[in-house]
Amino acid sequence: MQAEITQRLYKEAGVSELTGMTLAILLGAAILATGESDHRVYMWLGLVIPAYVFRTVFTSAFNKNGFAPTIDWLNRFRILTTLTSIVWSTASLFLFLPNNTLNQSIILFTLTGLLAGAALSYAVDIITLICFFLPILIVLISRLIYEATTTTYVMSSMVLLFLIFILASGRRMHKTLHENIYLAKTYKDGEEREKSHGEIMEMLANRAPLSETLEAIVTNLEKQNPKMLCSILLLDPDGKHLLHGSAPSLPESYNLAINGITIGHGVGSCGTAAFTAQRIIVEDIQSHPYWVDYKELAAKASLAACWSEPIKDSSGKVLGSFAIYHREPTIPTEKDIKLILQNAYLAGMSIEMLRNSQEQLLAAMLFDNSHESMIVTDADQLTIAVNSAFENITGYSAKEAIGKNPNILKSGRHDNDFYQELQQQLKATGKWQGEIWNRKKDGSVYAEWLRVSATYKKDGTVLNYIGLSTDVTKRKESEEIIWRQANFDMLTGLPNRHMFHDRITQEIKKTHRAKLPLALLFVDLDHFKEVNDTLGHPMGDLLLKEAAARLVSCVRDSDTVAHMNPVSRLGGDEFTIVLGELRELESVERIAQRVLSRIAEPFQLGEEIAYVSASVGITMYPTDSMDVDTLIKNADQAMYAAKQQGRNRFCYFTESMQALAQDRMRLANDLRSALKNKQFHILYQPIIDLATGQIQKAEALIRWQHPSKGLISPAEFIPIAEDTGLIVDIGNWVFQEAANQVALWRKSLHPDFQISINKSPVQFYNATSSKENTHVNWVHYLEQLGLPGQSITVEITERLLLDTSNTIRSQLLEFRDAGMQVSLDDFGTGYSSMSYLKKFDIDYIKIDQSFVQNLDVQSDDLALCEAIIVMAHKLNLKVVAEGVETQQQLDLLNAAGCDFGQGYFFSRPIPVEEFQKLVN
Ligand code: C2E
Ligand code: CA
Ligand code: CA
Repeated sequence: MQAEITQRLYKEAGVSELTGMTLAILLGAAILATGESDHRVYMWLGLVIPAYVFRTVFTSAFNKNGFAPTIDWLNRFRILTTLTSIVWSTASLFLFLPNNTLNQSIILFTLTGLLAGAALSYAVDIITLICFFLPILIVLISRLIYEATTTTYVMSSMVLLFLIFILASGRRMHKTLHENIYLAKTYKDGEEREKSHGEIMEMLANRAPLSETLEAIVTNLEKQNPKMLCSILLLDPDGKHLLHGSAPSLPESYNLAINGITIGHGVGSCGTAAFTAQRIIVEDIQSHPYWVDYKELAAKASLAACWSEPIKDSSGKVLGSFAIYHREPTIPTEKDIKLILQNAYLAGMSIEMLRNSQEQLLAAMLFDNSHESMIVTDADQLTIAVNSAFENITGYSAKEAIGKNPNILKSGRHDNDFYQELQQQLKATGKWQGEIWNRKKDGSVYAEWLRVSATYKKDGTVLNYIGLSTDVTKRKESEEIIWRQANFDMLTGLPNRHMFHDRITQEIKKTHRAKLPLALLFVDLDHFKEVNDTLGHPMGDLLLKEAAARLVSCVRDSDTVAHMNPVSRLGGDEFTIVLGELRELESVERIAQRVLSRIAEPFQLGEEIAYVSASVGITMYPTDSMDVDTLIKNADQAMYAAKQQGRNRFCYFTESMQALAQDRMRLANDLRSALKNKQFHILYQPIIDLATGQIQKAEALIRWQHPSKGLISPAEFIPIAEDTGLIVDIGNWVFQEAANQVALWRKSLHPDFQISINKSPVQFYNATSSKENTHVNWVHYLEQLGLPGQSITVEITERLLLDTSNTIRSQLLEFRDAGMQVSLDDFGTGYSSMSYLKKFDIDYIKIDQSFVQNLDVQSDDLALCEAIIVMAHKLNLKVVAEGVETQQQLDLLNAAGCDFGQGYFFSRPIPVEEFQKLVN
């Protein structure tokens, strides 16, 4: 109301300012025309005009900035009018010349007119009117009385009468004006309320977020009622706490402090309102019992009154609270209560509507964005809706699907019974689920997991059927991957041990039905571990892949293989080949032979070339066994026999192998404790200098005195020791024994006496991994005994030299640096590459006994021996002939220029005492 009055005052001030100013100029001009007191007129005009200019500036400032509640525009207006009035009243002091009746009447009429005009324009605010009237009247009347003549008495009574009349009509005007303003304002309020209500409705229709909608409610109300500060709090889903909804005008700290407050009786106005579902009016927060715990908080936020109304949904359930705060203790008017009710209702409706529409929205979103295909049919099973996943999966658009029965997807993979059962179950239980094959629009068939459920009307009849399905083709694919991982070897792509078991079982059944035999080949790569250790696992993997491919190629075009890939990889370097339904047994041997030659071909691994060979064990069904596990064991044993016999060959399973394999297992066990139990001893076999006949060298050969089996040959147990890794400890023991012995013999037999010891490749490879057993320790040991390196020769085999890596070369170099010599054992049986001899520092080569034993005049072996000797001498190597058993062999070797001889002809390996006797 007050704002309305202020607005009116300022609005009309423009006209009154203009007329006032014109009047002042006219008055000035009129007085001037009487011909007196010129300078007084100018002085007075000098006061009036700035006063009006000043007022005009204020008025335009108000009109420009509008109504700002922080500035008291009404009182400003009152002061300004007082000011103007004082300036006007000075006119009667300046220009009211005594004895000049003309001047007096001009001023008197001007001022009376001015006051009459003011009464009209300021009637809306009585105080402004008084402010304007008083200064002029007091000065004017006092002047009239002071200058009292009969004329002035008459004039002043007329003026007073006129003014009384003016004031009386001004009072009536004031009343009607106020009535008008009130009416206009109520109308405007209603209009604004309508407007803000419309705005909220529009927001709801546009699904604006709840927070924005609530904020609009609050700010609209605050705009209409500048003294009110509004707040909306929302009850959380558990119905126990109030959460911040919207309160843009309350201090952030206050909002934070009450966010999450537990509702209850006496918890401020809002907590109590939400708890009791009743309106709570707190006129003065500081003195109200509900606010005891919160009054300081409110004081900090400078809040003095709080009226709170519970916000309810259409069913009356409390959703939160709507509150109006005031900065001064305030009692709500009837109108205020209405306002609270209206806004709380608006908030409740917004919350309810938005929450509902959110649920619907969510449902719609789920329907549209789900990866599951969804289809909704009516009770007659005609499609009424499908989602986009359905469209994507099936290829049918919604348009194409709607109105049709979902059986457009029928794949034809299920019989009628299937669908009948589905329908029956659906009818009986309202639900069905299972895997179903469907056909897409493009004709392709896919598997899906379908769940159908019925929804019902109130009367119990079906309303809809809803079908949800997940495409399980992917799952089937991943099942396939898992299956592959479980059944196939990832490296080579061959069936693995698990699959192999299945396959051989199947093959056996088939073979059995066909009354035909079956062969199981067990293929193990020789020396694969060395390739792996020296060239690294990636190269090892490459070799395995290539080996697998070669094995497959060996059987690919075999007429014996009817169906599937018969090659499997059991792990490591072990492969199996199953040859089922054999029509001719010869093919087994042919394939085994092919395997050997294919595997023996060099392997190109990146830059490197590696050589391996294969040992193959063969067992036959049903002759060797009828049982899968036994067959596998048999083949393994036969393979082992092939290894024993020198590798790169195949062996058929025999009964005796079984016994051998068992022996081997027992031996391996016994071997573990043999060293500790001192069951080893060393025999020494002399190596004779053929030129002089002297014995200055001997080879240390280990023996195992088994407690029950008696003496066991190293040929039998060394491979077991190699396989089990025990060779490292055994080798060290042999070395120490030999070193101790050579120390003694250097004193007693010959100062340059030399003992050669055999060192297995396994010892070389393990040396790098185990600190205790390195070649370095051997050199140290010799130093401790005060022995030079020459007292020991290390015998190695050609196989070791195949490894061109630094592991071996550096170890051999360290032996050489320590003065130890290196012998190449069994020369001629392996790869016998001359280039190795040059590459490595070799001191002796030992011609294998197989050559020596067949020495005959004019034999090939003699030629070979001669060639070896010539070549070795060219390379500055000495030659030792092994296995010399006869005079003739000795003669031939002598003639060929061989340096040393070793064999039964001179002496068998013998114990120390015998050896000493022999030399002496
Ligand atoms: P090798 O290094 O070739 O040793 C020579 C083998 O030939 C010895 O067999 C020896 O008794 C035998 N021999 C010597 N002269 C004749 C002969 O005139 N006629 C025949 N038929 N044989 C003869 P032994 O002692 O049974 O050793 C067999 C293999 O065991 C050795 O072959 C060697 O490779 C290995 N071995 C022996 N002792 C050790 C050892 O301490 N460490 C390692 N790693 N291997 C050893
Ligand atoms: Ca040897
Ligand atoms: Ca040998």
